[in-house]
Amino acid sequence: MLLLARYVLPISSVHIENGAVLVQDGKIEAVGEAAELTRLYPDEEIRDFGVAALMPGFVDAHTHLEYTILRGLINDLPYVDWKFALVEKEKLFTQEDWEDSALLGALDAGRSGITTVADITESGASFRALKTVGLRGIVYREVGTMERSEVDSVLDAAYADIAQWRAEAGEGFQRIGIAPSPLYSCHPLVFQHIADFAQDGTPVAVHLAGSREEYEFIRYGSSPFSVPSVEERGYGIDMPPWLATGVSPVRYILNWGVLDAPNVLAIHCVHVDDDDISKLVDRDVAIAICSRCNAQLGMGVAPLSKMLKAGLRIGLGTDSPAATDTTDPIAEMRLGLLIQRSLGTGEDFLSAAQFVRLATLDAAEALDIEDYVGSLEVGKLADIIAIDLSSSNQVPTLDPASAIVNTTTKEDVIMTMVQGKILYDRGKHVPAIDWSRLAARAHEMRLKLLG
Ligand SMILES: [Zn+2]
Repeated sequence: MLLLARYVLPISSVHIENGAVLVQDGKIEAVGEAAELTRLYPDEEIRDFGVAALMPGFVDAHTHLEYTILRGLINDLPYVDWKFALVEKEKLFTQEDWEDSALLGALDAGRSGITTVADITESGASFRALKTVGLRGIVYREVGTMERSEVDSVLDAAYADIAQWRAEAGEGFQRIGIAPSPLYSCHPLVFQHIADFAQDGTPVAVHLAGSREEYEFIRYGSSPFSVPSVEERGYGIDMPPWLATGVSPVRYILNWGVLDAPNVLAIHCVHVDDDDISKLVDRDVAIAICSRCNAQLGMGVAPLSKMLKAGLRIGLGTDSPAATDTTDPIAEMRLGLLIQRSLGTGEDFLSAAQFVRLATLDAAEALDIEDYVGSLEVGKLADIIAIDLSSSNQVPTLDPASAIVNTTTKEDVIMTMVQGKILYDRGKHVPAIDWSRLAARAHEMRLKLLG
């Protein structure tokens, strides 16, 4: 199939006007000018998207698709209260709820132009949703406990799930990793065991230095995570006694070896200093930046320019729909760009093109999958999207990257293709999902969660 559009953005090279991408057997076989490729391949079926941009699908470096049903339910709360409220709501979920919530999230991701997610799940629902919808993903099995006596049993359960999911994963489509719980809810022995387990290259994802409260809890033992505070707030959550460590979250977790595993993704890294950043650089830890979630929950702003300058591998993540409501990489790029520029630190003034790259090729590099996705290059897999640029709020368009970041919304994504297969096409989800059943289930779950 020959895909044509006014703009083709390979990301790894400059954009092509009136460009084309040749897709055969799920792979990209040619990228170039439409006039030339239509002449060279006269028998190919043509899809012409007109005034639109063809680009690699978004690689979302951090999601929790199974929380999609919680969108809009825990609003207007700062991070710690939001987190505790989330834990309370989770207790009401049945396995079927997790499955349908994740399916809703995977559909939202596909229609938003996301072709790969890096998702954290304990239930495994998002793994199955990715398979159903046909999305690519790295799925990290979350595991953690604060109780030393439970460490072996929770890890054994996680390793069993990982083995099973690996056996069930679509060839090349889903890769399975492991995710220790956040630092304030995880016994250090869990980190130590995962450090050993992941020496074989198993992907590891860990929420790290996201909120000021986490930083203060790890360093000073204070903050709303401390036992008296949790009890005072009336949450039914067991927080064991905790001794202040005197160090930052990054330096704390370094003690337990997990950052020394070969393939580690640290999520957030908002509360990091120069020394923390150099420690992350030394270990080639990749970073997922989640600007919209951080802003929504009042967590702070990650030092993105500094981290880019330091040479860290970085991708954008949409994070939990329980915080951001939508799995929307375009909103993530625009807000991320504006927040960074708003800081006015005098450091690098990041461009729209840099944010498009952070949401595609850079994110693929952060996840160590850039050899086969993240850009439109001959030999890579055909994970491609089309974004319409023909509306009154977009015309005239000079720079497609700037137009995508500044003038489009997820509604402008008109086609999503994974490995040559179209999953979303001008308002229609192609996989055979019973949408009316899912919408009815969403309302049913919402009533239960409100109650
Ligand atoms: Zn998260």
